[in-house]
Amino acid sequence: MSTPTTPDVPRPDALQGDGLGCHSGREQMLAAAQAAGKSDTLAQYAQDYPLPEGAGPHDQPQSMCPAFGSLRVGLRMRRTDTILSGSACCVYGLTFTSHFYGARRSVGYVPFNSETLVTGKLFEDIRDAVYAKADPEKLDALIIINLCVPTASGVPLQLLPREINGVRIIGIDVPGFGVPTHAEAKDVLAGAMLKFARAEAEAGPVSRPRAGVADRPTVTLVGEMFPADPVGIGMMLEPMGLAAGPVVPTREWRELYAALDCAAVAAIHPFYTASVREFTAAGRPIVASAPVGHDGTEAWLQAVGQACNVAQARIDAAKNKWLPAIRGALARTPIKGRVTVSGYEGSELLVARLLIESGAEVPYVGSACPKTPWSAPDLEWLTARGVQVQYRASLEQDIAAIREFKPDLAIGTTPVVQAAKQATIPALYFTNLISARPLMGPAGAGSLAQVINAAIGNKARFDTMREFFGNTGDGDRAGVWEKQPVMRPEFRAETRRQVIKLMKKRKAEEMV
Ligand code: SF4
Repeated sequence: MSTPTTPDVPRPDALQGDGLGCHSGREQMLAAAQAAGKSDTLAQYAQDYPLPEGAGPHDQPQSMCPAFGSLRVGLRMRRTDTILSGSACCVYGLTFTSHFYGARRSVGYVPFNSETLVTGKLFEDIRDAVYAKADPEKLDALIIINLCVPTASGVPLQLLPREINGVRIIGIDVPGFGVPTHAEAKDVLAGAMLKFARAEAEAGPVSRPRAGVADRPTVTLVGEMFPADPVGIGMMLEPMGLAAGPVVPTREWRELYAALDCAAVAAIHPFYTASVREFTAAGRPIVASAPVGHDGTEAWLQAVGQACNVAQARIDAAKNKWLPAIRGALARTPIKGRVTVSGYEGSELLVARLLIESGAEVPYVGSACPKTPWSAPDLEWLTARGVQVQYRASLEQDIAAIREFKPDLAIGTTPVVQAAKQATIPALYFTNLISARPLMGPAGAGSLAQVINAAIGNKARFDTMREFFGNTGDGDRAGVWEKQPVMRPEFRAETRRQVIKLMKKRKAEEMV
């Protein structure tokens, strides 16, 4: 797709190349953004969301448009609106996906063309939209997200007013060439909001939480999790005289203050680097890993208790209350079979721990998220049990693991599940079927067995289907046919001949 240009308007650097989408070339977009004044933002992203050393333009996990993570966080907050600035095709995809996931509210959009981009008019248009939208009767915050092209073109959201009539204006750059996954894009927005809220709290009194101030010291939980998990975590904290605080990303602006006002922060999902930076700046200790399974819960209760200066006797009381229940639940609901795990949500290592404690053999865990200190205990626990852990896993690595380990069940993202099922290996979607269950404490200990054992038991159905369908619909037979497909290998040979001829011609022209 190309953006129309007027003859006298130069084509912006961000629109050079073969288009203006994800396919335009990461390096080219990065260079354009740096030249356009976004070097600091991109350097911070490179530090917060690192790619492996020597990674090339395509060496990043395949996942949906990263900006979806930020968009979703904003859409789930009360009294918060979001405006996107980017190419129409990106905005179409992002709004489609958000409504598919039940956004139930409008997403604002400021369109652009080459002229408004180059002349700075796009920024003026964004500012007009922000002023038009900032109604304090309806909103606490207004989020503006620069997608790839406006980021690469240096649209300066930082020049927007900080507040309009009491409505906070949060402008963030979330380019696919700077933020590797949509998981980390959640952190971009959560971190930006925590930073803003921290400055407000330091400057003077702020709103109380809707449910009032907790009567016990709280532990803020970082990472979107199944709704029953924060409740279960709260029950486990109770014998230590602690309570579960808000979950970050929060559902409301005022929860940000309560999140910052905690005794400790539990980095349940380990990729929230920018958010952790804000909590650290606020003087809060950070606890790694999560209360999953017996060993995970034991270590986590100890770490949280120590971080909150709880007496060892009370920590032991919590352990004595909950660990036998977890052990019992694990023993009652065993999982038998070999399972590979891959996903992009950041909880993959936790799920693998739970599976192993339930009796499953887990040879491989792939996560699209990077290695951080907050998954270090999980990495250590898993590698001690011979599990191959792959951070920043690519689709190819996940599928290679399935080929190598021939699991009884593959847990993964859509393309991984598709590849496994094609190979008659039962497979489950991580997001829909694993993340939609409790994982923590006693509730989590028995929650995976039913769905996983049922899926493993389906192997015979895949074999029957394979036998019945054979290679129907494979390769050249794919698509809708009204008659028996007739293979035409000569067409393929002819196309190949023409492509080779074209490439030779291009090469010759390049040499002239
Ligand atoms: S905003 Fe998202 S969909 Fe659009 S080009 Fe960037 S990564 Fe691709």
